[in-house]
Amino acid sequence: MAVDVTAAPTGARTGAQYLAGLRDDGREVWMGGERIDDVVGHPLLGGGARGLAGWFDWCHEHAETCLYESPTTGLPVNVSFLQPLSRGDLERRRVGLRRMAEYHGGVMGRAPDYLNVTFALFAARSEVWARRGNERGAENLVRYYELMREHDLSTTHAIMNPQVDRSRPDAAAGAGEIALHKVGESSEGIIVRGARMLATLAPYADEISIYPGSPLRPEDTAYALCFALPMNTPGLKVVLRDSFAKPRPAFDYPLSSRFDEQDGMVIFDDVVVPWERVFMDGDTVGYDEVISHTNWRAQIVSQAMVRAWTKLELTFGLAHAITQITGVSRFDHVQEKLGEIWSYVEMTRSGVLASEVGSYGAGPGELAWTPDERPLVALRGLMPRWLPRAFELTRLVGGAGFMATPSLADVDGPMAEAIEQYYQAGGAGARDRIRLFRLAWDLIGSDLGSRGELYERFYLQDAYRMTALAYVLADKTEAQALVERFLQDEL
Ligand SMILES: Cc1cc2nc3c(=O)[nH]c(=O)nc-3n(C[C@H](O)[C@H](O)[C@H](O)COP(=O)(O)OP(=O)(O)OC[C@H]3O[C@@H](n4cnc5c(N)ncnc54)[C@H](O)[C@@H]3O)c2cc1C
Repeated sequence: MAVDVTAAPTGARTGAQYLAGLRDDGREVWMGGERIDDVVGHPLLGGGARGLAGWFDWCHEHAETCLYESPTTGLPVNVSFLQPLSRGDLERRRVGLRRMAEYHGGVMGRAPDYLNVTFALFAARSEVWARRGNERGAENLVRYYELMREHDLSTTHAIMNPQVDRSRPDAAAGAGEIALHKVGESSEGIIVRGARMLATLAPYADEISIYPGSPLRPEDTAYALCFALPMNTPGLKVVLRDSFAKPRPAFDYPLSSRFDEQDGMVIFDDVVVPWERVFMDGDTVGYDEVISHTNWRAQIVSQAMVRAWTKLELTFGLAHAITQITGVSRFDHVQEKLGEIWSYVEMTRSGVLASEVGSYGAGPGELAWTPDERPLVALRGLMPRWLPRAFELTRLVGGAGFMATPSLADVDGPMAEAIEQYYQAGGAGARDRIRLFRLAWDLIGSDLGSRGELYERFYLQDAYRMTALAYVLADKTEAQALVERFLQDEL
């Protein structure tokens, strides 16, 4: 049965509790022409569900870093819900986020910690949400955050409208009928129709949240919506892409068998959003301000860069291990490639730590300590280049070894003796060599690996716009002062 948010809170859930919550009635998930009622029991979706269940258990196993005491119930809750009030809190959250990312090696971009950090910050800055008479929406938001935290909900989000015509405002494309919008209201709540393009984690989420992705024109009030709903809300439909999960032994697909977090379009077929779940309704100015006036960007990019750092480190570790066993690490151009990947790891780590060093305190009425955004904005534009480059470099040092990788059925099958002989590497037996290359390929080259690369290029918008924005946001004062100094007649 679905998570009962009216029942007594559980605090941080175990994997078994999480899986029980996914077994709800009425969830409408489609894939391959089939409506999937039981996500957990499905041959292609079950692996991802169990993979995420493992993440919940992992947080308990690493309770000292991943959990903290709820300020309201005293229960242990996930540290990604922490509303940081000091630099120490930012550090504490970062240590926990890093431990959580280690579970999946940074492969799951949208494990629940992503939205936990988002809603912790939104609630901490509820005064921005309350502007222009939206006090009720802001109260709903704070209550919702507490509900997420105390019931440890797994939440997806969908902020971008479908790609109908990106040269026009979303509300103008497709005669205004495609993008998610409000079509009415009743005593129960608002009624919404339309679609949002992509919700990662959708089949594995208890709830979906809708908040701003791109700015609106003043006349687009029907599109200025923020809310959250259980995934089994009537009229809410998810259409998934093909599964990249491989229901095969972990030896064959160590990542795809557990960490395909899935992506789907979300269609709202005249869905009623209860009043208590509406956070914003019709305020096109507020729609922009809840992103641009809350320092949300700094908070969420710090979470995202801790995950990216972990993924880069896994890539570096794999490339290093591969070159060790095949003996190519002694060639200087291979060392240069490995050094380049390591440099990305180190720059990311340094950027995350620098954002803490430069963090600053909350203003009056604000409940959030903010990381220094500058290194994070820089990393946000660079990471969509660095991670694909790290994957490319790994391919270059691994060569055809990625293809000399028979499955476990072959390794243990009739060809076992020949495989043991001919697939050995200088530094490892055949089984270990094959296992290592298969793991690396699952990160950088399999269906899931390629999807992961696309994700890194786009999940925070494209690198081109992010780097352009970095320039726009940059404080140019020091740079300009330096130029001025050299333009003086007398130095
Ligand atoms: C694997 C994956 C998972 C994702 N998961 C989620 C999720 O869980 N929730 C969610 O809300 N979103 C998710 N996204 C969507 C993500 O937010 C978008 O990919 C991102 O905002 C870019 O939008 P787009 O993909 O529609 O590309 P577009 O914006 O259509 O861009 C396509 C191309 O056109 C160019 N372009 C488009 N508009 C402009 C412009 N105005 N000026 C200049 N160039 C332009 C871009 O540079 C790019 O080259 C996910 C994306 C991926 C790939």
